Amino acid sequence: MKIYIDGKFYGERDAKVSVFDHGLLYGDGVFEGIRIYNGRVFKLKEHIDRLFYSAKAILLNLPLSHAETMKAVVDTCRANKLRDGYIRLVVTRGPGTLGLNPNRCKKPCLIIIADKIQLYPEEFYAKGMEIVTVPTTRNLHSALNPAIKSLNYLNNILAKIEANQAGCEEAVMLNAEGFVAECTGDNLFIIKGGQLFTPPLSAGALYGITRGTVIELAQEAGYKVSEPNLTRYDLFNADECFLTGTGAEMVPVTKIDGRVIGEGKPGPITQQLVAAYHALTKVSGEPIYK
Ligand code: PMP
Repeated sequence: MKIYIDGKFYGERDAKVSVFDHGLLYGDGVFEGIRIYNGRVFKLKEHIDRLFYSAKAILLNLPLSHAETMKAVVDTCRANKLRDGYIRLVVTRGPGTLGLNPNRCKKPCLIIIADKIQLYPEEFYAKGMEIVTVPTTRNLHSALNPAIKSLNYLNNILAKIEANQAGCEEAVMLNAEGFVAECTGDNLFIIKGGQLFTPPLSAGALYGITRGTVIELAQEAGYKVSEPNLTRYDLFNADECFLTGTGAEMVPVTKIDGRVIGEGKPGPITQQLVAAYHALTKVSGEPIYK
């Protein structure tokens, strides 16, 4: 595997960063997770847009321009001869001192890892997965805005641990007001009466790229999509529920907090949208091999 760090490729054993890097010391940095399908980088522009927005929000000057960052991603895929896989793009504040002061970090560090993808078990896609609401609430906007895809993911990791302790792979995270925000690494949708609902971004969700794609696909298929505040009651009484994420794609949810959702199996609208999503991933994206 060839790993890109600041313009050079390194083997897996030689790909290293400083122990003084503020990404390691403080989680000070931003990242993206991007998919490669069929020799193309899916939604690359959208991911790099979001990387720039996250970086702007934490006053981190990215080392490359938007176009150069896109090219570095494609070059890394090509160097690894990948046609399908998953890219982790990380930008840290860079090496500094043991103090918090980010001004001591003179140069941000850009890392691109292109690897194979690890998905949820196949059974979840075929039969649906069970999720639970966990006690850890989503970060407050006013503290650490969940829209920033920062390296500080402890909020999500704590929720994931709580889901695992309850025997589940994903958690429903509420915000401090008790409205549904999202899951630890996925956005959440419900379907009721033939309409789609997903929490508004202001409820504490990441601006999911897959969320955006699914909203577009649903609207193209003639479904109404709205973004109201949702409570657990709304989830329990949904006809269908699914999660979206770059890694997870679209996963049907059939049980939440012990309540069976709809018919207890992946619903027809979910299945229709999953098919539309897969069809899109096959033909769309930035070509790696021109
Ligand atoms: N929410 C969180 C907290 C995430 O980390 C992610 C990305 N894994 C998502 C939602 C889904 O976003 P996307 O569709 O852009 O991958």
